[in-house]
Amino acid sequence: MLLTITTTHVPATDLGFLLHKNPARAQSTSVSVGTAHVLYPEATESRCTAALLLEVDPIALVRGRSGTRGGSGPEAFTLGQYVNDRPYAASSLLAVALGRVFASARRGTSKERPELAGTPIPLEVALPALSCRGGAAMVERFFAPLGWSVDAAPVPLDDAADWGDSRYVRVRLTGTLRVADALNHLYVALPVLDDSKHYWVSPEEVDKLLRAGAGWLADHPDRELITRRYLAHKGALARQAMARLAEVDDSDPDALDDATAPARTAAPAPGEDDLEVPDRPVPLALLRHGAVLAALRSAGARRVVDLGCGSGALLPALLAEPAFTEVVGVDVSARALEEAARRLRLDRMPERRRERLRLLQGSLTYADRRLAGYDAAVLMEVVEHLDPDRLPALEHAVFAVARPATVIVTTPNVEHNVRYADLAAGVLRHRDHRFEWTRREFASWVQRVASASGYDVRLLPVGVDDPEVGPPTSMAVFTRSSADDGSTPSGVTRGDVA
Ligand code: SAH
Repeated sequence: MLLTITTTHVPATDLGFLLHKNPARAQSTSVSVGTAHVLYPEATESRCTAALLLEVDPIALVRGRSGTRGGSGPEAFTLGQYVNDRPYAASSLLAVALGRVFASARRGTSKERPELAGTPIPLEVALPALSCRGGAAMVERFFAPLGWSVDAAPVPLDDAADWGDSRYVRVRLTGTLRVADALNHLYVALPVLDDSKHYWVSPEEVDKLLRAGAGWLADHPDRELITRRYLAHKGALARQAMARLAEVDDSDPDALDDATAPARTAAPAPGEDDLEVPDRPVPLALLRHGAVLAALRSAGARRVVDLGCGSGALLPALLAEPAFTEVVGVDVSARALEEAARRLRLDRMPERRRERLRLLQGSLTYADRRLAGYDAAVLMEVVEHLDPDRLPALEHAVFAVARPATVIVTTPNVEHNVRYADLAAGVLRHRDHRFEWTRREFASWVQRVASASGYDVRLLPVGVDDPEVGPPTSMAVFTRSSADDGSTPSGVTRGDVA
């Protein structure tokens, strides 16, 4: 089992300081599943490669190890326990070795090169045979959102015979990342892609996952799949991990939607491939994006502002449609905007797409003339983050000053919360929510704002409209009254706007 990490950062041999392993000599460490060796096949000023080689002891793996799956009971004596891929393919076993051998490196500290440890440097990771359920596409899904360029090709079952592809993938990752981040990505990726953890998954695994996933897992588009696979499809642990992930990033309400929707976290039946589970409900966040996009399309909007865009949940979908010629994301949180820029990979975005996007820091409770003159404004899951006494200021800034032709507002329907098995009675969906409205409360706010500011309004459910408690999300689409072309915003003189 082999994994190599290469850098071309000069002097490349500094990699030794970041990995806490001297390039001049090979080191061997005994780990629970065999012996791990770290050696440097090349170590020059311009290029340095560290190799982690795990020599698995298949007998040790089966015998005398309490807590291993198959370590007891009749299955422990089947031939398959001795003759299998474990010694050869990179799998969860390699993650155990990596976790152990590079424990200090994963914490991102280096006595000799403290600054370099915190600096992204050019890296190349190679895994000649990675065990991967879901194949090359799954490798891409895992690593690409983390900033890696992924080159993954399936390994054929037999080069001579035409037997098709094996479950192994040859992987080459390139990117500019901190070494600690790269190691933590791999530490989580190996068991997740392998998807057959060899050891018993205990509640401590949740802590391990969250520690290794700090700073990237909460925002990963496949965080739920990753969490579920990492925790070996133990539903209760996965739910616990998802709830804690949601707390990590309080600008992201979607994570909690995922964690609380019971059907989303149910473990797939044995043998079912979670890449294509047929009846899996669409996540609420995606339904919301779809509903907002549909409303924008039907309004014929071209220049769109996403107010309270957060870390950019909606922005990629907006940019993906050329009909939206200008997309502006606004948020009060600089951190959220930085995160949005990172997630959108702004630095690598093609020029033509980049030109259509702007990210602005600003507060929606202050009249902001930069936001005037757009076709549509989206307030997706934002109003409930404001203290109720700040809402009139937002109403003025959006409906009187910015005054776009269309305003789309979504917000949780609090009545629906009883359908979330994991949400205690009376608890809101997100700890930063200042309130959550019933359908009636939302409707009355919407009607009042519309009639005070000269808009017509339609209310629409998002998600399954439960006959008793209504849909999970309420949406309102405001349309500026046809007599009003927006040129003279009510209650505001032109001077305020320009
Ligand atoms: N629209 C995004 C994010 C919703 S979370 C989505 O649906 O995923 C709410 C966002 O509103 C947070 O990013 C928060 O920073 C932002 N926000 C809260 N109060 C704000 C204010 N006064 N002005 C601008 N943004 C605000």
